[in-house]
Amino acid sequence: LLLAYDPARRLARVQVGLERSLVNARMIYEILDLEPQQGDEPGAPALEVQKGEVRFNEVSFAYSENLPVLYGVDFVAEAGKTTAIVGASGAGKSTLTALLERFYDVDGGSIEIDGQDISKVTKQSLREQIAYVSQQPYLFEGTIRDNIRYGRESATDAEIEQAAQLAAADEFIRQQPRGYDTLVGENGVTLSGGQRQRISIARAIVRQAPILLLDEATSSLDNESEARVQDALATVMEGRTTIVIAHRLSTVVNADRIVVLEQGRLVEEGTHQSLLANPHGVYSRFHRLQSDKGLGLVNDIKKAAKP
Ligand code: ADP
Ligand code: MG
Repeated sequence: LLLAYDPARRLARVQVGLERSLVNARMIYEILDLEPQQGDEPGAPALEVQKGEVRFNEVSFAYSENLPVLYGVDFVAEAGKTTAIVGASGAGKSTLTALLERFYDVDGGSIEIDGQDISKVTKQSLREQIAYVSQQPYLFEGTIRDNIRYGRESATDAEIEQAAQLAAADEFIRQQPRGYDTLVGENGVTLSGGQRQRISIARAIVRQAPILLLDEATSSLDNESEARVQDALATVMEGRTTIVIAHRLSTVVNADRIVVLEQGRLVEEGTHQSLLANPHGVYSRFHRLQSDKGLGLVNDIKKAAKP
């Protein structure tokens, strides 16, 4: 089993397993836990999470000089609550989550978790407290059980199966030729997008992290899969500080707080009701557009942002 977690092997598996997904640096780092101490200050303490409050303090960031992506973004994701981030493609939503996991360092301002500046604690302790579910779930060549265990290597078989139940994955897993020991990947069974997504949610559940980042897009799933994935996500969000990049109006409506980003700036913030109270606001236009479409998927809210 230890061999299964050897970084070089994992990398090979990733490459095989990703044939239908985009490979990006974040995934590779996340999977391999590479570059662990890089960027840590000498003697940096571990992050200690009590409540799980996440605070963005006037965060500015540019991937390259003269091309700023975020301008003084300031908001709090309250402990145990759900904060939805809404904005057109390219607004900077994913960048916020990448900064929270310290794939990049902020250029201005800071990010704090329970009052601790994340740049002052060890990167490893930070990432241990965060579970990330992407819109492009990746599976490795290996068993379904191993794929869930990547969330936390010390998870027991019982914990893995319980997580799969919560993620609405247990039933289809048991229907596979060898149940949890069924191989997936190049030489294994092929799973649907919804099934892979539910396995990735089970992986997030076994991680038992107090902070959850969701890049929610489920647009590639059929209706039944999507409903199941939504239910599974609701379960894992309970009691956790959740930051969700929201593509569905239903998620936005139910969020405790909504942050609206436009071209790297926080332009509106509030609850669904308080944002709707301003009929000329970006959110109101976005809401009208979506309501006209019958609460469909938000693929691009640019039109809502620019009347
Ligand atoms: P969103 O998630 O809201 O669609 P992103 O945070 O992905 O937006 O991107 C914000 C801006 O940063 C975009 O202009 C995008 O092209 C740019 N960007 C995103 N990732 C990178 C990267 N790794 N290198 C350079 N520019 C990037
Ligand atoms: Mg994005």
